[in-house]
Amino acid sequence: MRDKRKLSSIHARLLLTTLIPLTLLSLILGWYIVTSQRAVLLSNLHDTGRVAAQQMASNAEFALFSGNQSMLETLGYSVLDIPSVSGIVFYNEIDESTVRIGTIDVSAKRMSEAFGRDLPFFIDSYWYFYSPITISGIPIMDYDEVGQSDPESLGWVVVALTDQILLEEQKEAIFGALVVTTLSLLVAAWLSMRIGRSISRPVESLTEIVEVMEAGALDSLATEDGPLEIRKLAYGINQLATSVRESNVRMQSEIARATAQLQITLIELEEAMEAQDQFLARMSHELRTPLTAVIGFSKLLAKEEDASKRKEHLRVIESSSTMLLTMIDDILEFSKAHLGGFTLEKRNFNMDQWFTDLVAIHRPSADAKNIALTCSIADDVPRNLSGDPVRLAQIVSNLISNALKFTDRGFVAVDIQCQSAEDNYVVLECSVSDSGKGIAADKIPILFDPFAQEDTSINRRFGGTGLGLAICKRLAQTMGGEIKIESEEGKGSVVSFTCRLYEVDESMLENGDGAMLTEKVLAGVTILLAEDNPFNQKLIVKLLRGYGADCLVANNGLEAIEIAGDLHVDVVLMDIHMPIVDGVTACETIVQQSGESPPIIGLTADITPMEQQRMLTAGAVSVQSKPVDEVKLVNSILKSLNDVNVISENTGGGLLASVIPVEELKAALYDNLDKLDLQLRSGEKSSQRQIIHDLMGLCGLYGMDELRELVLQFRACYGTSEFEDNIKKVQDIRQHIEDYLVKDSNKA
Ligand code: ADP
Repeated sequence: MRDKRKLSSIHARLLLTTLIPLTLLSLILGWYIVTSQRAVLLSNLHDTGRVAAQQMASNAEFALFSGNQSMLETLGYSVLDIPSVSGIVFYNEIDESTVRIGTIDVSAKRMSEAFGRDLPFFIDSYWYFYSPITISGIPIMDYDEVGQSDPESLGWVVVALTDQILLEEQKEAIFGALVVTTLSLLVAAWLSMRIGRSISRPVESLTEIVEVMEAGALDSLATEDGPLEIRKLAYGINQLATSVRESNVRMQSEIARATAQLQITLIELEEAMEAQDQFLARMSHELRTPLTAVIGFSKLLAKEEDASKRKEHLRVIESSSTMLLTMIDDILEFSKAHLGGFTLEKRNFNMDQWFTDLVAIHRPSADAKNIALTCSIADDVPRNLSGDPVRLAQIVSNLISNALKFTDRGFVAVDIQCQSAEDNYVVLECSVSDSGKGIAADKIPILFDPFAQEDTSINRRFGGTGLGLAICKRLAQTMGGEIKIESEEGKGSVVSFTCRLYEVDESMLENGDGAMLTEKVLAGVTILLAEDNPFNQKLIVKLLRGYGADCLVANNGLEAIEIAGDLHVDVVLMDIHMPIVDGVTACETIVQQSGESPPIIGLTADITPMEQQRMLTAGAVSVQSKPVDEVKLVNSILKSLNDVNVISENTGGGLLASVIPVEELKAALYDNLDKLDLQLRSGEKSSQRQIIHDLMGLCGLYGMDELRELVLQFRACYGTSEFEDNIKKVQDIRQHIEDYLVKDSNKA
């Protein structure tokens, strides 16, 4: 593994890529030089041998003919001076004698055998060159004739040449080539090592830096030097480290933030759990006290003979039971507030009457303690209001009871003022002041906590559960207000709260107690309203909620399909004309998408038999026309649910007319007219149709037939009319609204 890694290093690779081709090249080149040099040397040797043999043949002609041996020897010795020549043999055919000079071991017989083969011939590291000796002095080179007894042939000469010198020269050449090759290989290796090191060293240092960074030291930076590519790499690594460092910092701060948040949540949870534990402990303790009294005194009663004492015991049992009942009521009320908040009813009532009745309840207690109970309502407080008078009375009653309880002499005053008034609602401030014992400043903040009382003696002396103010606080908040206490020990207290109520027209109040009763016939029913006009949405939702239904709203057919697919819905009210996906398509889709689709009731302003049929074919159970007839609508919902209940005109209570104040309707109509006016003036046509559609919807909803007729006329001809005509018609519609809503607001 390690060797493999070594081989894969830049160094090794560079070395291999340089040395392998270089070595191969050197070998091929060396082999070529040596072989070609050998060929040259051999050819030189052959030339020398051949020339020497021919020379000797011609020179020895006479000596051989005359049989002069010493002359032959002289000739022979002369040829030995030539380098490489090792010996010579003269052969005389006449007397078949041979003269040998120098080293030439091969026998004449063997030589003559060899003459038949190629010339020169090579035996035992000697080259032999043959030449015939003839009388004419003209050597006969034809080999076929060699050895034949030619009358003119005198004999032959053979010169022997050793290849020793050739071999030595060759050795020298090989040695020289080897030296040069080795040297060049060494130089190449050295160069490749140097280049390799110049590349690998910065790469190694980068690797080290990356390892350091990997270990967490992201502050260390790579040095940006060396070859361009390495510098780029170093720069990249530094950039990467910087961004990793930054994202680390970001991540750490995110983690720190999330952890802190988690800790806070945990603390809050712990606190909530602790509070719950305390609440339970406190509650069981509180309940136990009167219960113990009831049990204890019941036992005493069983044994007691004396009639007056029995009466006394019965009184204690009764008061303890009453206390227990109050406590249970308070606890239930409180946990109701704690779990899901209060549901407020919306009823119209008269302030003066409500207030008089409320104060009357407390007057006997005030009189009994000889305390002056005064009450006042500021002039600017609207007298005809819509809200939840019962819950409102609950808060004020609680505050008056407290004030009376903690006041021994002096007064308790209840004042109602108008803190602010908006277009359609008022914020009232109601304060209950007393000249009682007051509250210690440090106790005030805790008094809104459940079971909180100023001190433990309070319960003994005055009774109470300490839940009243906690409930009042929740109620005030549900009514969009706040509650606060201002008090000084020994000087009395002022407990005040604010709440939001809606001003209504006097005509909307019913005779008698001023309250309109609505049967909660739709309690627990979830209705999906698919309607694009926000005003209609608001109106129908308020109407349905008045009957106890839970409402979901879709702004178009597509939303309706999605909601019906995702959530539990008992009934769908589907407007036919809607953007994106119309009511008919949405109805078809909902019926098809679920095996058991909720009943769908169509709603439309322009109802034609054809349109009604389309909706019914799409799967609707019935179609209701707009303006919505409250009683018909509620009854058709009940019928679609197979509910045997029906409501009548009397029980309906005319909610539809009262849920949206006239001012709000007027504002919605004007808003649409303003938009239409603006579009006409600017020539913008994009949403003119939609505005007219919305206007007609509003008219339909409120049964404003004359106004609807005007809008219809406008719709029929606004596209072809002159600009001034259109503006004039819009003004007429505006004027009509003013007249209609002022004169005939009952209808609205
Ligand atoms: P409860 O009256 O049943 O004890 P509350 O929540 O109504 O419960 O009141 C909590 C405590 O606040 C009372 O026990 C009392 O100590 C203090 N408190 C409330 N109103 C007054 C007041 N007007 N004057 C003095 N103390 C008050």
